Amino acid sequence: MLQQTQVATVLPYYNSWLRRFPNFAALAVATENDVLHAWQGLGYYSRARNLHATAKLVQDRHGGLLPNDAEILRELPGVGRYTANAIATFAFDRSVPIVEANTARLLARLFNIESRDALWNAAGTLVPKRNPGRFNSALMDLGATICLSRNPKCGACPVKGFCRAPGLRIRKQRPTTKRLIENHALVTSRNKILLEQCSNRWRGMWMLPPFIARSTSTPPIHSSVFPFTNHQITLRVHSRRRGKIDNRRQRWFDRSSLNKIPIPSPHRRAIEQLFRAA
Ligand code: SF4
Repeated sequence: MLQQTQVATVLPYYNSWLRRFPNFAALAVATENDVLHAWQGLGYYSRARNLHATAKLVQDRHGGLLPNDAEILRELPGVGRYTANAIATFAFDRSVPIVEANTARLLARLFNIESRDALWNAAGTLVPKRNPGRFNSALMDLGATICLSRNPKCGACPVKGFCRAPGLRIRKQRPTTKRLIENHALVTSRNKILLEQCSNRWRGMWMLPPFIARSTSTPPIHSSVFPFTNHQITLRVHSRRRGKIDNRRQRWFDRSSLNKIPIPSPHRRAIEQLFRAA
């Protein structure tokens, strides 16, 4: 949950997630709809799907207990080397290295190395057999609080005596933000609204149906901007008459039922705003 999201934002989601799915067994039997609904607002929904698939696997193959071996953890959906090793070292105190943004920067400067493989190798040579979790945690803290990305506090650094690049500034190029406009339609009939099941970015969730805007189209009735990875997306909602409905992907929903279905946050905000204004 903390990927690309701040702790303060995550806490209420984390607590309500655990109330809803207190263990792997509860998560494994939940429907995808329930899982996406509980994750709604956190974005990056593939994480929710991976957790769901992981719960099923843990139930089926590991008797409901998360494996404590990093290699086996890596077989779980969405679990890469960093996540597997982080779980193994922090939850089970296993002597495995971890390389994430903070430790990567620290090790790159300390050993004057760059490639990912060299960083993992260096981390592997340092991690001790005793208290590896505490060691890895300290390494992350050192990177996060002393070996800062822009102005490293080399004077206060406890490992400055070993550092091959004291004071070196490593600048990471920020990816450029791409702007996109996405047009969608508000189609209502009495107390119902037409929604379409997403197949890509928000797979499985329900959004306003796409709308092809032409130069002759009337102006949108709603416009808002939201970020998505390195994109800045302008969501424009147009009023549309009933017209043709794609029965394979589109469905009518009662307005009163919208709270129970997973809707991506930008679309939910637009719908709520439009209904309030109506
Ligand atoms: S001496 Fe400076 S650059 Fe080297 S590890 Fe410490 S803070 Fe980072």
